[in-house]
This record gives sequence, C-alpha cells and structure tokens, in this order.
Amino acid sequence: MSGICDRSRGPRIHSPRGQGKAATGRWRHDLDPCDTESVGDDVRSDLSDEEFVAGIPKVELHVHLEGTIEPLSLFRIAERNGIELPYDSPEGVVAFQAERRAPGNESLVNFLECLDISRGALRTGADYHTITVDFLARCRDEGVRYVEMMVDPQQAIRQGVPLGDCVEAITQGRADGLTNHGVRSQLIMCFQRDHPAAEAEALLEQADAHRDSIVGIGLDNYETPGFPALFAATYELARRREYRLTSHCDVNQPDSIRHIRACIEDLGVERIDHGLNTATDPSLVDLVLERGIALTACPTFYHGQQGAAESRLDMYRSLLDAGTMISLNTDDPAQFGSGWLTNTISEAMAAARFSRSDLVRFMHNAIDSAWTDEHHRRDLTSELLTFCNR
Ligand SMILES: [Zn+2]
Repeated sequence: MSGICDRSRGPRIHSPRGQGKAATGRWRHDLDPCDTESVGDDVRSDLSDEEFVAGIPKVELHVHLEGTIEPLSLFRIAERNGIELPYDSPEGVVAFQAERRAPGNESLVNFLECLDISRGALRTGADYHTITVDFLARCRDEGVRYVEMMVDPQQAIRQGVPLGDCVEAITQGRADGLTNHGVRSQLIMCFQRDHPAAEAEALLEQADAHRDSIVGIGLDNYETPGFPALFAATYELARRREYRLTSHCDVNQPDSIRHIRACIEDLGVERIDHGLNTATDPSLVDLVLERGIALTACPTFYHGQQGAAESRLDMYRSLLDAGTMISLNTDDPAQFGSGWLTNTISEAMAAARFSRSDLVRFMHNAIDSAWTDEHHRRDLTSELLTFCNR
C-alpha cells in the first residue's frame, strides 16, 4: 500500500463536453478526483521493478497488426498459403531480423524489408483473423487491457484480400480476443503515404460498409515528399464521417517539424504516431499542449543500442515533463525484436532512467488519449489506481 490517493485535491474543472484542462495546459478527460499525478516513486515498494512493470495494467495505442506476426505463426500462415519464405526455420527469422537491426544496419528500409516478408505471407481473411487472435492472446500475457491496432488494407488488397474480408476477419478476431482473452480492442485503418492519395480516398469510400468496425484512420509506411498535404482531402472526408484522426510522423525524418505541424494544423489530427521531434521546437510543444495532441511514441530502437539513442531518450523526458500526452508503445513488436510491451517498457525505463511514477504517467497518458468511451476510460484509470494503491 503506497498511499498515493489524495482525495483532498477535489475534482478537476470540467467543460460541458466532460473534459477539463489540467494545470499543464493540456486537455484531460474528467477522471477520478484521485489522480495518478499524486503517485510517488515509492509506489508499490513491495514489488521489484520487474514485477512492477509486468503487473501494471497497460494500454497500447500504436501497434501494427502486420508487425505482430511471430516466427511460428509466420511459418504456419506461409505453409497454408504455399508461400516460400527466405528463412530455413522460425529461428532463421529471428537471426535475419537481428542482422538487419544490428548497430550500423538499423534503418527504416531494413526494418520495412523484414516487415514486407512477414506481411507478404498474408493472403486470406483467415490469416488476418489468425494474427489478430494471436496478438490479443499475447496482449493478455503482457497485461494489456485495451489496444488500438492498426492495419494497412492497401497491403491486404495488393495480396488478394479485399477490404471487407480483411476488416471482417479482424473484427471477428477482436470479438474472439475479448471473449477468450479479456482484451478489448479497436481498429485503425492506415493508408500508406508512399502510395497515391486517391487510393486512400477510394478506400475510405469503401470503408463505409464497415464503419462500425473502424474507429479511426492513420497514415504510415515511408514518409515521402508531398506528405501530409497530399492527404488533406482524405482527412477532410474522414472528419465528416466522424473517424478519429492520427498520422505517423517518424523520428528524425527530413522536415519532421514541418510535417508534425502540418498534420495538426492542416489534417486536423488528434494524435501523432511517434512525433518525438516535437521536443526540439518549443512552439510546436505549445501547439501540442494547446490542442491536446497525443504522441504515441515507440522506444523500440533502444534494443541493444542504448548509446546511440540518447538524444531520443532526452526527447521522451522533455515531452513527458512538458505535460504532453506521450505514451509508450511497441509499433511492430515481432519485427524489432524489442519483445512485447512489458519488455519494451522495461528497456525504456532502464535506458532513460524513467521512474515508476514516470511509468504511471505514461500509462495514464495512454488511457487519456485512448479512443474509447468515457465509462471505459474511467474503468481503466480506476484499475491503474487500484494497482498503485494495492
Ligand atoms: Zn508505426
């Protein structure tokens, strides 16, 4: 019992929409008066660091379904689809990926090469069902209570899986994951930035038939010239159809600052996937705070290369301390070799010396920026506080 709950603080001020502006200037949802901001670094002193990270109830907002395919599942799916993999065995998958992310080799291109081999094996709706259920079983083991998963339907369509088959299979997989593993989830449909914007717009039209199964849209894959302005019309259409809006802005890309600002101001996103370079521009930090933009960061590049990642770790600290809604996520957990969320968090905490109270703030940020209903968000917050107070 760590005595973190100070009920004398009283409830937050809240607006007619049920949200309140915290002292940091950011918009927070109307949560319990007993808030996680009063959590100290001595929280759950009965637990080791390992037990604390393993046990804390988790929410994940940035993970690509195609990046969750584990080697055994990859071989099973490839075999049933008659696809030859460039690996001899599941162990060969691990070795190949490790070589591609070894110091000096790590790059978005090498990463996407590994990802393309794995996601290239997906040829039927059943494959998408398999990877969804497998992923949600993994979430249960990691203590993830709620996850927002991304999928690239353009990739599926190029491999012969129509949008409807892909979305319906994932939706069934999500239902099975809730029933069998107790993990709630939602689906974000991502468009690929290195493919024509007209494809994205056409897909958005097609997605009308599956509107209830898709909570929001995003942009991923390579950050190419013309991003994000090329997608303004698609985002305007999505806004009219009441999708939630996010977009990747990868770390240290050409024009990172301009891209983040344009995604917020021109596309109207509520969330940036990655977006760490925000930390390098005070006026952008102000914009992110003012608009309550969430940053779904992924400390996966730290695996085995902590030294090279120091500047990124400084960005995490800076954004957390500035009061932005930055959270910790895995991105493509089966591809980066980062392990899953528990391991990713453990490595980030060790590398950046995040404290337990920092981790609770990251988790609270994830809950706050989750695209779920207020009742569910309160339940998630309550569970986090109960864990801290136990
Ligand atoms: Zn991503």
